[in-house]
Amino acid sequence: MHEKKWADQALKSFDDVVGAIPGFRNREGQRKMAAQVAQTLSQAQLGKIDEGAPEPTRSIAVVQAGTGVGKSLAYSIPAISMALARGTRVLISTATVALQEQLVNKDLPALAQQLEQPFKFALAKGRGRFVCKLKLERLASTGEAQDEDLDDLFAEEKAQAQSRVARPALELEARMQFYKSMANALASQAWDGDRDSLETPPEAEAWSPVAAESSSCTGKHCPAFSNCVYYERRKDLVAAQVIVANHDLLLSSLGARLLPELDNCLLVLDEAHHLPATALGQFAGEMDLSRLGWIDKLTSRALRVNTLVEVEELADLPSHASQLRQQLQELARLVMELYGDTLKSQKDSWGPARVRVPRGMLPEPLLEPLGRAAHHANSFLDALRAISKALRAAIKDNPEEARRLSTAYAQVGALAPRLESVYDTAQLLMQQPAQDDDSSRVPNAKWFTLETDGEYIVVKAHASPILPGATLRHHLWSQVRGAVLTSATLTSCGQFDFFLREAGLHDDAAVTTLEVPSPFDYARQGTLVARETVADPKEAARFTQEMVDALLGDLSRVQAGALVLFTSREQMRLAVDALSTAMRSQVLVQTAMPRALLLARHRDAVEMGEPSIIFGMQSFGEGLDLPGALCESLFITKLPFAPPDDPVGEARAEWLRSSGRNPFNELVVPATAIRLAQWVGRAIRTEEDQAHVYCYDRRLVNTSYGQQLLKGLPPFALQRRPAR
Ligand code: SF4
Repeated sequence: MHEKKWADQALKSFDDVVGAIPGFRNREGQRKMAAQVAQTLSQAQLGKIDEGAPEPTRSIAVVQAGTGVGKSLAYSIPAISMALARGTRVLISTATVALQEQLVNKDLPALAQQLEQPFKFALAKGRGRFVCKLKLERLASTGEAQDEDLDDLFAEEKAQAQSRVARPALELEARMQFYKSMANALASQAWDGDRDSLETPPEAEAWSPVAAESSSCTGKHCPAFSNCVYYERRKDLVAAQVIVANHDLLLSSLGARLLPELDNCLLVLDEAHHLPATALGQFAGEMDLSRLGWIDKLTSRALRVNTLVEVEELADLPSHASQLRQQLQELARLVMELYGDTLKSQKDSWGPARVRVPRGMLPEPLLEPLGRAAHHANSFLDALRAISKALRAAIKDNPEEARRLSTAYAQVGALAPRLESVYDTAQLLMQQPAQDDDSSRVPNAKWFTLETDGEYIVVKAHASPILPGATLRHHLWSQVRGAVLTSATLTSCGQFDFFLREAGLHDDAAVTTLEVPSPFDYARQGTLVARETVADPKEAARFTQEMVDALLGDLSRVQAGALVLFTSREQMRLAVDALSTAMRSQVLVQTAMPRALLLARHRDAVEMGEPSIIFGMQSFGEGLDLPGALCESLFITKLPFAPPDDPVGEARAEWLRSSGRNPFNELVVPATAIRLAQWVGRAIRTEEDQAHVYCYDRRLVNTSYGQQLLKGLPPFALQRRPAR
């Protein structure tokens, strides 16, 4: 049997490689994970299946590997070794740039030197991270730039706000200089065309006009194709046996032929606990109902193409465009009629005012204009497809006109995604929930927002699916044959069930789960101090005051590195305000400086033997690696429940309640358990670390759900300090 041979060979590669690492310590958990990865991936049946043949075997492992297991080696060695043996490829997807960099710059180069069989690896990035030479040449060349191009320098939103005053000529001039210097750097090979390798990352507004987006690219018909930055990088991907991507790119590239075909490669999803949230973000939609100038601009650009090539389908375009504009305006009017009072009553709140549509049941009056808007957007899209086809054919027939025709293509294509987003969002909004008792028909979350932009009022419509699992099952798992999902936090309160449901793998017979505990001796290395308060954490003002007093007392005893994690910006601000002058010099606040600078300062201070305390929020609760003295004390100011103003979470809780289920137990507690385990995971990073974790939220020890949350945490020695 091939399967056994592949699995044995992959595990042997693992043993050989880790055995050759100088000072290697045998880690039982790591080998157990490697064996599971080898076995799982050996069983997946890859490639085309003959018609009438039985369903191909799928095989998926969900592995929680505690901190210190060394999971990246445990999956990469067997997966790569097996891919080479099976003549296929490995696609590794992560959630963070930090892990991608670690894989591409450290782990994979080291592995390439160790493995007997050579292999190539490449980092896959979205094409929008690369510069489009054609666009850059046009924008950098003052002689050739048209008014139209200059308009592209500004997003419509910005242009509208600035229409009250003349657009500053100096700003335009600076922008032209910016493009010129980029073009020069590219021409002299001082820059490789990757946005991430620019010394100062440009603002999105300056970058987007030169990004190599697919909607504005004619591919092999483009006159700059032969030395296009993006297509050059794509060749590396084609030649690589191992590709490192991220969850966003993985989901947005489904069916786009950028990454290996999922039914014919081995997939590894690291930091897999992020996959469900990424899926929801990916399949949600929004459309602006107020700023509609782009419709006229897109129409005039499309009609101008008619002077270059003949496109029959353009005859009705002006009528579709004007109807689309009218229907969106009508929608904005109706939204304000129905929800205006509620939206305006929140005008003092932080961020846009928002109103969610209960049960996802869109009021009847909105459905008709929405349906008409979707119809005209669709007809408009058909016309754009016809233009695209005609332009490509014309470029092929008249290569000497390629530059002019590709430019026309890019101008139309730059605005086409807005039209697609109108159509997609309208489709999500129009899906109404079941009127009967059929609770299996899951509603979409739907909401409207209102914000002001100078004198302008901006109304937007939003919609999103509420169950990431159903979306992932439909779009991802239907294609995947062999996969490993891993992270240090996949169980909630000790169970895999929540993650499996969220990821769309619940009740999937192809799935095996494995929990590999951390090799750390948590009971000896860590202490969890439950610092209780008199105030109930639900009474925000009283609790925060009492918590901040206790926190400042504890911080005054910090000798080395410490991390304080807050659940909100406001809570962190109040703690910063309460700091004494002496302590202020020891505290580094997340919002005060870039992350890399903050971490460098923290390291420097701790190395000099001084106390250094980082104040951060959710993003600092994940992925920060502060071993040894860099984090001897971790302070959790409050249990990290999800923010209360998430419309998708609200819609989901409402749906669960209407189905007789309990959203708190089913959704809130398990999601908080994963977040809390991530936060607590910052404390012990190596077998030598010793740390104290302080939690000021008494609910962790006083409530039944708190006891469940505790089950999901490392088995630290527990010290209770009741409120005095
Ligand atoms: S091939 Fe596409 S991305 Fe590359 S330069 Fe041409 S238009 Fe731009």
